[in-house]
Amino acid sequence: MQVSCQYGDMGWDFDGKVAVVTGASRGIGEATVRALDAGGARVVLVSRSGSTLNEIASGLANDSLVIDCDLSDDESVSVIRECTLDKFERIDVLVNNAAVERNEPAHRATAAAIDETLLVNLRQVFMLCSAFAKDLFATQGNVVNVTSTAAAGAGGTQGAYAASKGGLNTLTKNLSNEWANKRVRCNAVAPGLVLTEMWEPTFEKLGEQTVMEAFVKRVPLGKWGTPEEIANVICFLASELASYVTGQVVRVDGGMLNL
Ligand code: NAP
Repeated sequence: MQVSCQYGDMGWDFDGKVAVVTGASRGIGEATVRALDAGGARVVLVSRSGSTLNEIASGLANDSLVIDCDLSDDESVSVIRECTLDKFERIDVLVNNAAVERNEPAHRATAAAIDETLLVNLRQVFMLCSAFAKDLFATQGNVVNVTSTAAAGAGGTQGAYAASKGGLNTLTKNLSNEWANKRVRCNAVAPGLVLTEMWEPTFEKLGEQTVMEAFVKRVPLGKWGTPEEIANVICFLASELASYVTGQVVRVDGGMLNL
């Protein structure tokens, strides 16, 4: 599978801003890091793959920080906040992108798998938002959560993942209301089909070409999305261009859920 993660300068103005991106080691997170950096942001890259993060960071134009941690560890939240503030003394944008996805029928679900999915995809997102709340109030920053069209529940065999993303949509709206008087915006991007390593287990099970051809039939625009197409919308929402947008879940799915 070919995953492209190159990014050009789209003219976002993140000069002087600091952005934390979880799940920065590949796919949508990596593309978002590159887009934010191209716009002038100093980026904090978070995932469990320190050496990959260092490689990505070494190619960035601006100063950056790598934090190698597992979001399923409770202490990861305070580590991310403390390291970010130690180095940059501020946060302007929090992109909660990291997630785990397990495709399994409900009758085979285990408590451990459900717990891990809800922990990484929902609880720790809430904990990170909570930990950074006062720092975001100070900069009138914003949060962009990466959810999924799976939140609609139409995919099947994704119960815990779909529920975690549905919860994240609701959390996004709740925080947007709670923090509006602090001038802190909170939005979400809900990708549809995006060619990343997240699809690897499905490709291995059912065949890459078969899956790609079968799924693309559901997309009115007739193609899979790229990580860069999702990063564009994340950056729009994170930027001043979206200064009057809050509490929104923006689907970036080639029209899939319009059907
Ligand atoms: P991906 O290629 O599988 O990347 C997932 C990222 O999350 C990796 O950087 C991974 O980093 C990180 N991560 C996972 N568990 C972690 C943990 N416990 N601690 C720290 N980092 C962790 O996925 P993607 O397709 O880019 O997905 C990014 C976001 O888009 C996710 O929220 C996903 O739900 C959403 N989304 C994707 C699609 C799609 O079709 N691809 C569709 C809808 C929504 P390490 O492994 O290096 O730790």
